[in-house]
Amino acid sequence: MNIFRPVWAEVDLGALRRNLKRIQQYAGSEIMPIVKADAYGHGAVEVVRTLKEEGITRFGVAILEEALELRREFPDIALMVIGPTLSKYSEILVKEEIIPEIFQIEQAEALSAAALKLNKTARLHIKVDTGMGRTGFRENALENIRKIAKLPGLYLEGIYTHLATADSTDLSYAKQQLKIFDDLFEKLCAAGIKIPIRHVANSAAIMQIPESHYELCRPGIILYGLLPMDHAGQEAGFEPVMSLKTRISQLKTIEKGESVGYGRTFIADRPTKVATLPIGYGDGLRRSLSNGGEVLLKGKKARIIGKICMDQIMVDVTEIEEIQEGDEAVLLGRNGDLFISADRIAEQCGTISYEILCGISKRVPRVMVESK
Ligand SMILES: *Cc1c(COP(=O)(O)O)cnc(C)c1O
Repeated sequence: MNIFRPVWAEVDLGALRRNLKRIQQYAGSEIMPIVKADAYGHGAVEVVRTLKEEGITRFGVAILEEALELRREFPDIALMVIGPTLSKYSEILVKEEIIPEIFQIEQAEALSAAALKLNKTARLHIKVDTGMGRTGFRENALENIRKIAKLPGLYLEGIYTHLATADSTDLSYAKQQLKIFDDLFEKLCAAGIKIPIRHVANSAAIMQIPESHYELCRPGIILYGLLPMDHAGQEAGFEPVMSLKTRISQLKTIEKGESVGYGRTFIADRPTKVATLPIGYGDGLRRSLSNGGEVLLKGKKARIIGKICMDQIMVDVTEIEEIQEGDEAVLLGRNGDLFISADRIAEQCGTISYEILCGISKRVPRVMVESK
């Protein structure tokens, strides 16, 4: 794609590599990076390529489309869909060697039939619902897994569950979930069903619950340098990977009483220097940042004024001297000594950093850089 408009998301692959190393200090088990939603908006292909260079061989995505995109690029990695896949696509799973989560008998039967038809063995992971209330076997889990274990053409490589409160300061519910998981696993062992890989830990559990690490961990957000809980501090040791940048299209000065933007929600109460930036909610910049969001220019903070448009925003730069058209503006990331984090933006928008990161639109080109 040709890039004509000066709007880009910088993805620091050096920070990504260091975040992986930091995760490996928290957990000794195998790491399955979660690269769903285009690696939380960072670009799944580049993220996988980079982590593969660091020795990672297994990756998790949320949907079959994402797995197939990665399979085309990387024929030799293990790929798992940590979400539901419709049974009618079992042959694709088997042919492309993509590992599904299985939480219904019918899914397992369809996978078994596909494996027999294609004369292959299908790898699968059993999903157990221990209290998240999402997909997973719940009551009758033992009985159902015993049935699945008897089906031909299947390899039960893994069993896993997901925690609802791993980011809490009170970990009692998470520990209850682990107890349910451990009890089930013990019963499976007693029944002679051997499953080599257990996995439970997301980012928060990697940081807070060592007994949840088992044979494999599933980090998402910390790989990208954001923290899953407010009570973790800088010492956690993760660096944000993504920045969002643009350049000033036009500078002008408006008089006291003049307005900016749709609906005239900003009226100048003094002569005001206004910078227009060529980025808007069509790029994933939340409209709720209208008249309040922040932008960094020349190492200083400037405020978004007026309503955010689909493709443009206006910023009050009255206090910033020596500013020029074409100057770089930072919406997410560092500029001089100042930094805008995805957490800060999320707080202003009433959401979490995850949604800010994966909300940066496809039309924003990702530019890979590598800091030392
Ligand atoms: C998204 C997801 C993860 C990663 O979660 P983070 O909080 O980003 O670490 C892990 N496991 C499952 C099942 C998920 O859906």
